[in-house]
Amino acid sequence: MVIVMKKVVKFGGSSLASAEQFKKVGDIIHADKERRYVVPSAPGKRFSGDTKVTDMLYGCYHLAAEDKDFKKELADIATRYQDIIDGLGLTISLKEEFKTIEKNFKEKAGENYAASRGEYLNGIIMAAYLGYEFIDAAEVIRFTDEGDFDSELTNRILGERLAKTECAVIPGFYGAYADGRVKTFSRGGSDITGSIVSRAVKADVYENWTDVSGFLIADPRIIENPEGIETITYRELRELSYMGASVLHEDAIFPVRREGIPINIRNTNRPEDGGTWIVESTCQKSKYVITGIAGKKGFCSVNIEKAMMNSEIGFGRKVLQAFEDNGISFEHVPSGIDTMTVFVHQDEFMDKEQKVVSALHRLADPDCVEIEADLALIAVVGRGMKSTRGTAGRIFSALAHANVNVKMIDQGSSELNIIIGVANDDFETAIKAIYNIFVISQL
Ligand code: ASP
Repeated sequence: MVIVMKKVVKFGGSSLASAEQFKKVGDIIHADKERRYVVPSAPGKRFSGDTKVTDMLYGCYHLAAEDKDFKKELADIATRYQDIIDGLGLTISLKEEFKTIEKNFKEKAGENYAASRGEYLNGIIMAAYLGYEFIDAAEVIRFTDEGDFDSELTNRILGERLAKTECAVIPGFYGAYADGRVKTFSRGGSDITGSIVSRAVKADVYENWTDVSGFLIADPRIIENPEGIETITYRELRELSYMGASVLHEDAIFPVRREGIPINIRNTNRPEDGGTWIVESTCQKSKYVITGIAGKKGFCSVNIEKAMMNSEIGFGRKVLQAFEDNGISFEHVPSGIDTMTVFVHQDEFMDKEQKVVSALHRLADPDCVEIEADLALIAVVGRGMKSTRGTAGRIFSALAHANVNVKMIDQGSSELNIIIGVANDDFETAIKAIYNIFVISQL
């Protein structure tokens, strides 16, 4: 029996912004016959300052929704596609498609429908260019009446459809309700489609092609030329992306994770780079003790003090209730003997702070409440930390040498990460100090 491997390949907007980029994509697909299912995004920016087709579609549809003339805007979008078609030497015409789009815009088919046309049209071109079958995502990706992605129904419909198809192009970013109305995922959602298709065909690997060679250990805006991450687990990635590292849509992990399918992030402009592997678990040690560092500014801490609080049953619940009643989610809750601190997003908290303070007094009767603003949280993530002694010690001595005052420390029980709170102003210095001690000094 010959076992044929299956790879799902998703290409982001910058990989498909022009005919030149399309050709690179074609070469990548043809280089490996296992690359059988292709998920394209809409054409992205060709140069800095350019506009993504998805944004052009939103803008155009807003004019239509206000009964304003949108002919020029729609013609500009048609030109973007025509340039690609001409550049590839294809003979297909999207004229009829654009007539339908114009009619549906006039009939106010909705913003979701409008935005989805970016991927839909790019899918048609891609299928013609590759000689693959085109499958409209509206027929195979389903949403419930409440607007949630229907994972099981989709998996069944899509799995059955693709079992009959050797090679296909399925546009990213959208699906439809049972009645056929189009619904999109949130922005960047083609990553999710790629993951859904991978699960449905039980792919051997989900290749996600973008314009960087995978994840970096730290943000390149803070660290000059940071090293790349070769292998990262789903859980580590969740921690890092929650803290701001963005290459892949957050929700893209879930469908493949259920099947244990690895994701390989690759660079369309540097196909020779191996990129980053995102896996369920691995015995491969990461090169350094830490896998990555990420962080966010803009937090507040609310410090609640009450003598003998440790022996008061239900104190924590009452404190958190004050936040819940005001619709505020919390990030971290480190506690001491007579203190408990709640970290919240400053922008969410600001308008409601006095309401929360009075709710705290009403519900938990503390001795005092103190708020501190302009804090940053930094997550140092690494599966290697569990089996290495002294990681926390190294972090804090590096921060002390860099003159950074640590305001909060929280080590998750998984021993996968250590979260550190510092002043916003110390954010960059702290990240540099941590990167230096774990990466630079090990080189
Ligand atoms: N084109 C959509 C966006 O710009 C979806 C995607 O590219 O993944 O958000």
